[in-house]
Amino acid sequence: MIKKITLLTLLLNVALFASLRVETTYATMGAVTKKIGGDLVSVHVLANSKYDPHFIVPKPSLIAKLRRADLLIINGGGLEIGWLPALLRNAHNAKIQNGAKGFLDMSHYVHMIDVPESVSRAFGDVHAEGNPHYSIDPYSILVMAKAIEAKLSLLDADNAQTYKKNLDIFLNEWNMYLSTLDTKMATCKDKRVVQYHELFNYFLKRYDYKSLGNVEPLPGVSPSSKHTLALINLIKDEKIKIILQDVYHEKRTAQFIADKSGAKVLVTPHDMGVNASKTLEEFYNKIANNICQ
Ligand SMILES: [Zn+2]
Repeated sequence: MIKKITLLTLLLNVALFASLRVETTYATMGAVTKKIGGDLVSVHVLANSKYDPHFIVPKPSLIAKLRRADLLIINGGGLEIGWLPALLRNAHNAKIQNGAKGFLDMSHYVHMIDVPESVSRAFGDVHAEGNPHYSIDPYSILVMAKAIEAKLSLLDADNAQTYKKNLDIFLNEWNMYLSTLDTKMATCKDKRVVQYHELFNYFLKRYDYKSLGNVEPLPGVSPSSKHTLALINLIKDEKIKIILQDVYHEKRTAQFIADKSGAKVLVTPHDMGVNASKTLEEFYNKIANNICQ
């Protein structure tokens, strides 16, 4: 009972001190926001990382959260296009609409890769604006942290010094982590993989890997038998050992390909919170441990 009261008091205190209510679409951005905002912000993540980030179920409870928000931080690059616009319209919160002071599109701060020459959404491609999964690159955390610090300071100038101090501490921590990760990644031998969905391209590019094929014929398009057979032949010819599978797509196709080709399927997190990754470091370590063989 005493424990319960203490916890309640603690939660109330945090709520009283928190001056900004921040909603982020995905967990990794939420974790960075918490690092910079500390007790001055309350952070809530809209998407449950168990599900496909392109197709989050737009529950009414999310509208209520957006209605009360002071700041909305989105991944952008088309990743939320299938679920967020309707929620945002229904929230009727002018503070966080696209272009408002309380809106931050993180994709404006990163260089998007895999931008198609012609828009192929007509064929079901969900990466029509390029590959939106840039947060899979651990270096993107540095960019996010700086953009979030600037936005929090703009919205809450009285606490700008605290946000700046938190940013400096976090950048220092993160740069140390990156140098450990870089050291580990320098030991990897075979730098070739196949993926289910093009989730890991930014991580692969960072560490000079090649992604030689995808289980999906196009991002967001279900596997066909013709494509699957071609992929089995490719994996056999190239002697590729790893198929990176996410937690939310069906796993039968990748397992079938693995059984026929001798590669192995490694379920790999696409966002913090997946595969029991409770911290940013655990999230990137789990990706690195799977990819680096
Ligand atoms: Zn995608």
